Amino acid sequence: MGSALSRRDFLKLASVLASASTAGPALLASGRSHMGKVERVRAALRGERVDRVPFTCWHHFGLEKLPGEKHAEATLDFYRKFDVDLLKVMSDSPYPPPEGLDKISEPEDWQRLEPLKNPFPEQIKALRLINKELKGQALFVETIFQSWNVAEKLSSKKDLAQLKENDPKLFKTVLRAISESQVNHARLALDAGAAGIFLAVSAADHFVTDPQDYVKMGRESDLIILEAVRDKSILNVLHVHGNKPHWDTLVTYPVQVMNYSAHGTGIGLSDIRRKFTGTLMGGLNEGKIASQMPEELANDVHAATLAMQKRRFILSPGCSVPNDISAEVLLRLRELVQKS
Ligand SMILES: [Zn+2]
Repeated sequence: MGSALSRRDFLKLASVLASASTAGPALLASGRSHMGKVERVRAALRGERVDRVPFTCWHHFGLEKLPGEKHAEATLDFYRKFDVDLLKVMSDSPYPPPEGLDKISEPEDWQRLEPLKNPFPEQIKALRLINKELKGQALFVETIFQSWNVAEKLSSKKDLAQLKENDPKLFKTVLRAISESQVNHARLALDAGAAGIFLAVSAADHFVTDPQDYVKMGRESDLIILEAVRDKSILNVLHVHGNKPHWDTLVTYPVQVMNYSAHGTGIGLSDIRRKFTGTLMGGLNEGKIASQMPEELANDVHAATLAMQKRRFILSPGCSVPNDISAEVLLRLRELVQKS
């Protein structure tokens, strides 16, 4: 008890000192500073004090077949409406199959996969428009799916598993080729103004792969992408998708931010904090948020903020929220965060 009290006193003192040293136009009469979105997110990344916890959330728009302009418009509408501190741009266009094919269905089709210079041109167009409209008021990250997942979508889970079993060498060559395309895309995204990438990794999970097998067969293809952006962007997020992740592997990935589902995995933010020294992103229950009672949502916001002590933390769901979530819920979330 004694140490908890003295910590609180220490924080109070630190806060008074910090206010005194930064007194100026950024301070309101209440003594509470109000940071801009970029400043707030950058402070969270550096482990510095924030006026309140930065937050973000996202869902799919279902516009992948439409031109980049439409995607940019939907993204910017979402940003303006819900006022997120960090914008995660969705990237749902399918990866292009080899020329002349709709999908990969024969084992020999895999041989025809080559790295692409600009695999998602409409997405790059959207990113440029988003960057232009945001005018530097908020940072945005570009979603990239890991090559394992892209290869599954190009064929099927079953076909990819067969390729891994029958021709492990070709399997790795295929993942490498997709990763090279994703690196090209990531570079174009950074050139278009993205602050980093949001790499969604779904196969590093006990329900999908065995941990040793993943290290042998999958990790390299993730690292090709992450290493390529490592020193070029300040905000690379690893999205850990799934409920039983291979933590030992994932916590070694070179990223500044890790996003995972605390509710889905049943592993609290403070536990992951002990394994990962970067910024954590999560705390909201993506599976329940759409139907939560206001006080339940308030509890989640409060518990996550308390657990992370507002340091190195971005409040977000552990995965995409339902696409049909009501605007009321996200507006309530924004209000709760602004009061936090
Ligand atoms: Zn996910």
